[in-house]
Amino acid sequence: MEEYSRYSRQMILKEIGREGQRLLEESRVAAVGLGALGSVSANLLARAGVGYLKLIDRDYLEINNLQRQILFDETDLSNNLPKAIAAEQKLRGINSEITIEAETADLNPETIEGLLSGVDLIIDGTDNFETRYLLNDYSLKKKIPWIYGGAIRTEGMSYVTLPEDGPCLRCLFGAAPDSGSIQTCDQVGILAPVAHLIASFQTMEAIKILARHFEAVERALWKVDLWSRQFKTISVEHLKEAPCSGCQNREYPYLNRRLGARTVTLCGRNAVQILGHSAAGPIDFKQLAQRLSLEGEVKFNDYLLQYRLASYEITVFSNGRAIVKGTENPDQARNLYSRYIGA
Ligand SMILES: [Zn+2]
Repeated sequence: MEEYSRYSRQMILKEIGREGQRLLEESRVAAVGLGALGSVSANLLARAGVGYLKLIDRDYLEINNLQRQILFDETDLSNNLPKAIAAEQKLRGINSEITIEAETADLNPETIEGLLSGVDLIIDGTDNFETRYLLNDYSLKKKIPWIYGGAIRTEGMSYVTLPEDGPCLRCLFGAAPDSGSIQTCDQVGILAPVAHLIASFQTMEAIKILARHFEAVERALWKVDLWSRQFKTISVEHLKEAPCSGCQNREYPYLNRRLGARTVTLCGRNAVQILGHSAAGPIDFKQLAQRLSLEGEVKFNDYLLQYRLASYEITVFSNGRAIVKGTENPDQARNLYSRYIGA
């Protein structure tokens, strides 16, 4: 009964016990975004023995991530790993008894069904409201809970959406703020402890839900400023009757939206993401590297190829998706992409 000694300290709790542990082992959770929030919640869920973890992130590691993203170290950085892969490797060493799947992918209306199918609960570690509203739509449609978390500067907040009990995130916040209109931690900064606190809150709520302790789940919006030590719970009771096209009319605009532009400016990062065309099959990095090395500096591994030219850096993943750093102009990014990567 080695597994029970592994989890003995949480199984002693009457809130978990043998039955709670069994429920955790049978659970399937997706962590969407593996930054400051997602790396903490994935870490805690893996250690708690959640039986299946799907780790989803579209990005690769950068040196500024190490200040707060707890699953990563300098070796991962020097190996130039995508976050999902580095997280998967780290978590396998922490708990080899659970199933972990990593996806280096952009979660969008076209990919969400494939990435999240079969999952019982979603933990939000994203950094933008467009993806969060997409998760909210998916949660309402599939009737699976999702747990919003956000942290910036010294502040953070979290909210649990239970599709069949109470308001959703859209009931709380109304229409999504325009991308670009809200500040990001790339622009105004973040202190790690507040992100870790929010992620711990999210994970605790996830454990309650997975262990079927719905009576203990926080139904208010939870807000903290860890610098001034202000903790607030803001009741959302009154929003149960609020007009919400998702909750009342089962309308899912983010889920049903066609992907317009296949480029997204990554706010505050001076970068643009380009969704490539995967139909042609995986890119041959070796061949591409040979061609590119005539003009600039290029390196690649099993997961990505990185090309530096003047003030630009193009990182391309094997399915053709790319992140172009050094510009926030989608046209310019697309030009660079077609000139150097092709298509
Ligand atoms: Zn709603």
